[in-house]
Formats: sequence, structure tokens, C-alpha cells
Amino acid sequence: AAKDRGRGTCVVYEPAMREKLEDRSSLEKDLESALEKGQFSICYQPIVRDNGDEVMCFEALMRWKHPERGIVSPEIFIPVAEECRLIDRLGAWMLRAACSEAASWSDDVKLAVNVSTLQMSDPHFLQTVAQALAASGLNPNRLVLELTESLVLEMDAQIEQLLQSLQTLGVSFALDDFGRGYSSLNYIDKMDFSMIKIDREFVQAAAAGSQRSQAVVSAIVALAQSLEIDVTAEGIEQEEQAKAMAELGCNCFQGFYFGRPQRNVRQFAENSAPLAKRAAA
Ligand code: C2E
Ligand code: MG
Ligand code: MG
Ligand code: MG
Repeated sequence: AAKDRGRGTCVVYEPAMREKLEDRSSLEKDLESALEKGQFSICYQPIVRDNGDEVMCFEALMRWKHPERGIVSPEIFIPVAEECRLIDRLGAWMLRAACSEAASWSDDVKLAVNVSTLQMSDPHFLQTVAQALAASGLNPNRLVLELTESLVLEMDAQIEQLLQSLQTLGVSFALDDFGRGYSSLNYIDKMDFSMIKIDREFVQAAAAGSQRSQAVVSAIVALAQSLEIDVTAEGIEQEEQAKAMAELGCNCFQGFYFGRPQRNVRQFAENSAPLAKRAAA
């Protein structure tokens, strides 16, 4: 870096750094018009209960088809949208579109929508959710908002009030990516989550035998069971991982093994390895 070069040299940007910055600002520019151009779509990934026979929920995952770059991952464009504050409009589009699709699914299947912590400070967020529900006719009890631990750090009276109002509408909350952040257990009873989702990397470590990860999963499961909260193991790619996590007490599962994110939820059963296996037996 510049400071390693000693006095007298002045390096403002490494070329790679400049490229990254330019890339980011061009992404930002394209993001601004992507909504109007209809470049976003939604894939749905199942969350199954127990042995995988029952889909309890589909999680909506945003996809951006960029005209030159092709499919851009949400891991790339969501942070950009957050930084330039487009996330509120993007999130509102997501809520409206996903609720209206989910309204035509079977009544006992829920819809989970990811919500950035930043959106929770948008003064219109409550109204956005209420309008998405009203316009689609989706029963509010079927909507789950996936929040992350970073919300806990931002928690203030206003956000507490918002969570309360959302709950009054009938909406519930899942704690996403548990194990990725600072993973403190002591706020879980305060926030009234109906589900805790254990992050993929944590699940894969626990399933591979990491005793440390297993101990944390067991602790979270014990707490969740006493509060009647579902625990989902994310990122299940193999049957053995599902078994290992079930043994640790997880009662819900999500991952490529049970079903990849896909456009059409009705095709899910055909593309799910465990369901196909059982149908063939
Ligand atoms: P997430 O909410 O934790 O979603 C799970 C991610 O893991 C998805 O990636 C999914 O495709 C991937 N995944 C699921 N099962 C497996 C598996 O078995 N193996 C592996 N390797 N991966 C698996 P995706 O769709 O790329 O989304 C990445 C993240 O972007 C999401 O993580 C979420 O944090 C964020 N995101 C996606 N859509 C939205 C959105 O509409 N709003 C907001 N705020 N964030 C979103
Ligand atoms: Mg999620
Ligand atoms: Mg997750
Ligand atoms: Mg995750």
C-alpha cells in the first residue's frame, strides 16, 4: 500500500483499487435504472420441516439480470443498494412482487422476505409492508421478515416500535445468518423471533464435526425450544448434513439438497432430490 513505499512517494490509488471504485460507481448507476427497466426477478427457495416432506415456507431471493454483466449476485448488489440508499425502493418492490406471487400459493405455505437493517430506519417501511399485504391479499400471518443480527446493534425506541407495529399487523420475524455476526443469545427472547436460521458456514462446520460449532448449535436449540422458536439449518447440501443437524435438534432445513432457489415454486417437488427419492421408493 501507499504507506509502505516510504516518504516522498505519493500513491493515491492502486490501479486495482481504482478499477474497483469505478466498477462500483458504474454498478450504482445501473442499479438506479434497473427497477424501471424491469431487470429484477425473484427466485424462491424452500424451507422444509423435519424430514423434508413438508415445505413450510419459501424464501424470496432477489435476482438482477444486468444487460452486460449477466446475473449479478445479491451479495454484490445489495450492499451497493444499501450504500446509495436505493435499498428502500428495491425492498419495496420485492415486498410487493413477492407478496402478490405468494398470494396464489397454497394457504399453508409462508413467504420469507429478506429485509436490510437499513430499511428498518425508513419511515415508510411499515406503510410499505401494509400496502404490499393489502394489495396482494396475502394473509399477514404468512409473511415472515428475515432480519439479521446487525439490527440488534441499531435497536432503539423507534425500531422497537416498528417491530411492535409489524407484529400487530400479523407479520412474524426470523433471525437470519445466526453465527455469522457476533451471535449473542441474550436478545433472542426480547425480539420475539419465530425462527432462528443458523448460517450456512456454521452449519457446515457443525455437520463436519467442529465441536465448538456443535456446542453453539446445541445451546441455541435449547434456548429456541424453551421459547418455542423453530431452528433452521441453512446451506444443507447433503443428506448427512441434514441428519447431523437434526441430531443437534434443528427442526427445519434449507439448502441445495432440499431445493435450489428457482423461479417457479410449483416445480419445486420435481427438482427436490429427497422428494424424488421418496416418490421413487
Ligand atoms: P440469505 O438470506 O442467507 O440467503 C441464503 C443464500 O444462500 C442464498 O444466496 C441462497 O441461494 C444460498 N444458498 C441456499 N442454500 C445453499 C446451499 O445449500 N449451498 C450454498 N452454497 N448456498 C446456498 P443468494 O440468493 O445469492 O442471496 C445472498 C444473500 O443476499 C441472502 O442471504 C440475503 O442476505 C441477500 N438477499 C437476497 N435477496 C435479498 C432481498 O430481496 N433483500 C435483501 N435485503 N437481501 C437479499
Ligand atoms: Mg435470508
Ligand atoms: Mg440466511
Ligand atoms: Mg446465510
